[in-house]
Amino acid sequence: MADLFARFAPLMAQRDQLFAEGRDPFSVQMTEVLSQTEAVIGNRRTILVGTNNYLGLTFAPEALAAAHEALDAGGTGTTGSRVANGTYAGHAELEATLRDFYGTKHAMVFSTGFLANLGVLSTLMGPDDFILMDADCHASIYDGVRASSAQIIRFKHNDAADLDKRLARLADKPGNKLIVIEGIYSMLGDIAPIKDFVAVKKKYENVYLLSDEAHSLGVLGKFGRGLPEQEGVEDDVDFIVGTFSKSVGTVGGFCVSNHPQFEILRLVCRAYVFTASLPPAVIAAANVNLGLVKKGGALRARLQRNAQQLHAGLSELGLKIASNASPVVAVVAPDPQVAVAFWRGLLDAGVYVNLALPPATPYGYSLLRASLCAAHTEEQIDEVIGIFRDVATSLGLIDAPRKRVAAR
Ligand code: PMP
Repeated sequence: MADLFARFAPLMAQRDQLFAEGRDPFSVQMTEVLSQTEAVIGNRRTILVGTNNYLGLTFAPEALAAAHEALDAGGTGTTGSRVANGTYAGHAELEATLRDFYGTKHAMVFSTGFLANLGVLSTLMGPDDFILMDADCHASIYDGVRASSAQIIRFKHNDAADLDKRLARLADKPGNKLIVIEGIYSMLGDIAPIKDFVAVKKKYENVYLLSDEAHSLGVLGKFGRGLPEQEGVEDDVDFIVGTFSKSVGTVGGFCVSNHPQFEILRLVCRAYVFTASLPPAVIAAANVNLGLVKKGGALRARLQRNAQQLHAGLSELGLKIASNASPVVAVVAPDPQVAVAFWRGLLDAGVYVNLALPPATPYGYSLLRASLCAAHTEEQIDEVIGIFRDVATSLGLIDAPRKRVAAR
């Protein structure tokens, strides 16, 4: 009989080889969280540059107070799904806050952003319909469309002309078409040319647009409503999916829309019906933090300054950065081995970034993925850049501080 796990053998071998000795990402434990930007990891004060805590709201005093109060009043969990016994007044209030925040008629809260994508994408389109998704979309989008009965077409990342070509081929097919993109892409930090996508959408009949704003909520737009707000195309985006796990500083997911029949999703999204709803403390924190996101212009400005500083500092060292400055700054390492050594070197010196390896990355890149927080100070970012310089130099990726040398 074949070993149940035999098909994972190549992956296990690769993992064993990459992480034979020394630390690996799964062994990292934060024994103490000191602030939004620092934690103790292995007895060392470490600067966190991979949290996705873009606005630094995880310790917002207003949210902490509301969460404590809700915890005491409502207990540690709802112990049920929204449909069974898991809708508390707080869930309805949070949905009202979301409707107000986005100015939409409908809002639906899920237990995570992953479940929001899974739930919405698996149910929205039927067997005669088509989902056209950007090739670089998140795993939850891939899983959502896989579970859908619609026909799935991938278009080239951020390529409106490629989308146009594919929609043109479907023009005489009667089904609905759903375009799926993200605002800011999670791995490389690049931004969708959403205006171009909207222009393509408008050329055809029965085409809808869904944007996953996981990394752009709170980050882009005057009021933090993400890429559609920043680009002035909110009326052309039919569904926005988002998460509370990044700039909102807690956990949970949602979908908002103006579509008149949207509410039926509450009955047909299995990822909504058959899973427990968010606990009261989380709901309360999300509710308060959404208000802070809306008023967070100063935090957004600070975040952008921090992003510029890190991007410029690392570029100047001669490191290859995967995209223009954005709150996600991904350094491309020559191969997985070097990426692991780089990541370990950074961690040993007190900097935590995300190690992202193929196949989880676009273009087969091996990445040291940093994400900025509005709460990072200029001094912290300078320290991070200095540590990147030292580690990159010790690995022979740059041959002398502050001199540009082509990556291997
Ligand atoms: N979409 C994107 C683009 C993401 O990056 C993530 C989280 N990494 C999610 C959805 C899922 O969000 P959550 O953490 O709330 O499950």
